Amino acid sequence: MKGLLSLFAKRYIAGTERSDAIETAKRLNSLRILAAIDHLGENIKTKEEADETVAEYLSLLDEIRCAGVSAVVSLKLTHLGLDISEALAETNAVVVIERALQYNNTVWFDMESSACTQRTIDAYISLKRRFPNIGIAIQSYLKRSEADVKLLISKGGSVRLVKGAYKEPPDIAFKNKKDVDDNFERLMKQLLLSGNMTAIATHDEKIINEAKRFADEKKISRSSFEFEMLLGIKRSLQRSLAEEGFQVRTYIPYGRDWLPYTIRRLRERKENIYFVVRNLFD
Ligand SMILES: Cc1cc2nc3c(=O)[nH]c(=O)nc-3n(C[C@H](O)[C@H](O)[C@H](O)COP(=O)(O)OP(=O)(O)OC[C@H]3O[C@@H](n4cnc5c(N)ncnc54)[C@H](O)[C@@H]3O)c2cc1C
Repeated sequence: MKGLLSLFAKRYIAGTERSDAIETAKRLNSLRILAAIDHLGENIKTKEEADETVAEYLSLLDEIRCAGVSAVVSLKLTHLGLDISEALAETNAVVVIERALQYNNTVWFDMESSACTQRTIDAYISLKRRFPNIGIAIQSYLKRSEADVKLLISKGGSVRLVKGAYKEPPDIAFKNKKDVDDNFERLMKQLLLSGNMTAIATHDEKIINEAKRFADEKKISRSSFEFEMLLGIKRSLQRSLAEEGFQVRTYIPYGRDWLPYTIRRLRERKENIYFVVRNLFD
């Protein structure tokens, strides 16, 4: 089963090594597409693992700089030790953010399950007071996100708006696709009007078209927002938006801990589950 999933994962993951991600970013840059590189991993349990994550991100930032690729980095606070302590994750994040700042680069915090939402936002807001070069993902499937977006706008936060990829209970998350999509559009418009840097991170063409229409109507500068998509999804749309002159960024994951990310991609789409099941019986 793991072999079959690794076959499926190839579409979504640059490879196991840092150099795989750098090469993928170079290829995308040549198509005028920017990159956000994520070293795969989450929910680590020891301080030593957290140290390894920090070392990997520092090397990644060095290599991005050395290779001259246009790429920010994206990370999960549980990969930096959030499950051990908030203080450890924050201290580790500072090391990565300081190196990024030295290179004029940016660090984005991914948003994990709802067990981490408050702690991730708290860490972000506290670090945002000291560092201009950080952004945070917010999930439109969470009912709390409207209040979070309002708070983040008031703090000058850069927000990457996503629909959300974790299994959450109905008391805290919208379960109906239309409600998630409507909330996405609502929050997206508030973010676009705020003037804060906004990443519209979706492959949903209806939402992307509405973002284009709204930005045009409200005369929102194209430099204050970008479209972001995952590696392996809607490749031609990524290219055509870049050709139209929009800022487009592809999220490029790499590393050996690819299984949880792959399972999230698998669950997102029933065709993906059919693919795996079909190959299982081939
Ligand atoms: C840059 C970026 C960063 C992200 N960061 C986070 C994060 O920090 N936390 C988090 O919870 N989630 C994150 N996500 C994932 C996000 O929450 C969604 O799960 C994912 O983007 C799919 O939703 P959608 O917005 O594309 O809309 P959907 O309505 O799910 O999909 C729209 C269309 O996109 C295509 N599509 C969507 N998913 C797939 C797939 N897996 N395989 C093939 N085609 C697909 C299909 O054609 C589908 O009809 C991120 C997504 C992006 C693009």
